[in-house]
Amino acid sequence: MFKNIRKFFYLYILRKKYYRTGECKACGRCCQKIYVKHKDVIQTEEEFEKLKKLHPFYTYLKVIDKDETGLVFECQNLDPETHRCKIHKKRPGICRRYPQEELFMMGGTLAEHCGYKLEPIISFDEVFSKVKKRGENAKTAGIFKKTDN
Ligand code: SF4
Ligand code: SF4
Repeated sequence: MFKNIRKFFYLYILRKKYYRTGECKACGRCCQKIYVKHKDVIQTEEEFEKLKKLHPFYTYLKVIDKDETGLVFECQNLDPETHRCKIHKKRPGICRRYPQEELFMMGGTLAEHCGYKLEPIISFDEVFSKVKKRGENAKTAGIFKKTDN
């Protein structure tokens, strides 16, 4: 019963597609090796310079590499010794909300060994059985017309 209420709340009130479970292990991996996506993944320092004017979070980042996906950044607020955020209490909303399901929607993944998990609220089995049921209902309603040959 509680499970169904939770599911309803997440799906139809919060409009979520994933449950977030687990907890932060304070490993700092999500503050390293970051790609920045603004419409597309940022590829050049020139593009990034323009982006910095849009949100102060971007001014924390520095380029550490470039690969086939785009520029790779690291946050300068990450303490390299402790792997803790130096501005933890004042960290921006994007960091407070990490990991959000929008990350997946944008094609991102969780940092390796992250303590969180994002699990689909509607499992694959549920989706599959709904599609199957719809197919059966459509057949009953005569949507799949048999040819005479
Ligand atoms: S501000 Fe802090 S939490 Fe946010 S990316 Fe930088 S180090 Fe990580
Ligand atoms: S990668 Fe996950 S566990 Fe590690 S600091 Fe980020 S949120 Fe926490």
